[in-house]
Amino acid sequence: MSWSPPAGLAAEALGYLKALIEFDTTNPPGNETAAARYLHDILEQEGLQPVLLEPSPGRGNVVARLEGEGRDRPLLLFSHLDVVAADASQWRSPPFQAHEADGFLYGRGTQDMKNMTAMSLAVLLALKRSGQRLNRDVIFAAVADEETGGEFGAAYLVKNHPELLRAEYALCEMGGFRLNIRGRDYVPVQVAEKGCAWCRAVFTGQPGHGSIPDSDSSIQRLARALRRLDRKGLPLQVTDPARDFIEMVAASQKLPVRVVLRALLNPLAGRLVSSRLDEEQARFFHAMLHSTAVPTMVKAGEKENVIPARAEVFFDGRVLPGQDWEAFSKDLARVLGPHASLELVRWMKPLTYPADTPLFDTIRRVVKQRLPEAEVVPYQLTAFTDAKHLDELGIITYGFSPQNNDPGEKLTRLIHGHNERIGVEAFGWGVEVLYETVASFCCAPQGAGAVDSLMGELLPAGEQQPEAEATAGEENGEQ
Ligand SMILES: [Zn+2]
Repeated sequence: MSWSPPAGLAAEALGYLKALIEFDTTNPPGNETAAARYLHDILEQEGLQPVLLEPSPGRGNVVARLEGEGRDRPLLLFSHLDVVAADASQWRSPPFQAHEADGFLYGRGTQDMKNMTAMSLAVLLALKRSGQRLNRDVIFAAVADEETGGEFGAAYLVKNHPELLRAEYALCEMGGFRLNIRGRDYVPVQVAEKGCAWCRAVFTGQPGHGSIPDSDSSIQRLARALRRLDRKGLPLQVTDPARDFIEMVAASQKLPVRVVLRALLNPLAGRLVSSRLDEEQARFFHAMLHSTAVPTMVKAGEKENVIPARAEVFFDGRVLPGQDWEAFSKDLARVLGPHASLELVRWMKPLTYPADTPLFDTIRRVVKQRLPEAEVVPYQLTAFTDAKHLDELGIITYGFSPQNNDPGEKLTRLIHGHNERIGVEAFGWGVEVLYETVASFCCAPQGAGAVDSLMGELLPAGEQQPEAEATAGEENGEQ
């Protein structure tokens, strides 16, 4: 069964991306409304009924729905319109002008994540124009304020307009690109992300005169605790998505890399073998397999000759799925030692979603058709995204904004970096893959949904076959 994208889809999406780059949506302050209005007007011209929501002046969000037959719950194509600041003096071309050179499109937001906004818009409109019957609604949402936490974007919508976003699945950022590990190609799809535990450790000690050393002062206690944390780190913890990722990568590697990767999962061998990886890879796998606490601010003392009674260090804590604040703070306190008293400043829970869903299967099938040599692997992000907010509505969010980048290119350096860019062909490929994914997932041939619901009625829970639809779709070969 093929769901060929319509001719001109990639060029159309590229046009949207170029236009979006030219809206300076640096957050703070954001000023996303002009970009949201641009999208709103296009959607409206095409006969949709978009909603523009502005929780605070300038902070525009736009949501539109392409209605299906309601046999399944909606699929949400979710992106954010804001970007991080760009220092124009460090760029080869102005960051808020779409500049094409050497096969690349340069501009702030080409990777994070106006590319997904442009692709989602093009896909939604193409589906609308095709007149294909959808077994579920497809929702398009482009929101404000992701880069500073989502208060005027995802969090606002989830809290105040949940009916606009409610969906079974969402596709968002941080996945769908090509990644090379030791000569093999992978396409990671984000299925999990770490939580945040921003916290403070307070140390106290006897105050005193700076002319007499005291190794039990608050600052000395803090210093020793940080050294212990640097040396020992937090304990190894293997989550399901991390295990799946490492097992699947290992399985396609040759010896001895295969053995080294598998050994990372072993608490006795992990530390030893990570020295066999290059530094960047070792850091990458370490963050995947450990909760972390990175000291980011230290405060103590007010005068050159007074030993302060109190010293505190602020940690950017990142917490693996499966841990709560209690478990994380216990681990951290154990490493910091008896003098640290921990206080939570901000908590965001970790997320993890199953990778054995019909949508994940569809993604794998579509990508494999185009890149037979690449492995599609579930992936756990160390940072956080708007998925945190969507999770409040029970939406299964995958990071999948596809692009056929050069797998050797380090996209992580481009995101939030200088000269952010996307390959024009890599982007065009992504639009087509997104179209095929959405179309084949949402346009099941007539009857397939009916078969599904019949199966649902006939079979007791637990025996239902989630793949019945995809199978029926392939066999029918219609549309
Ligand atoms: Zn982003």
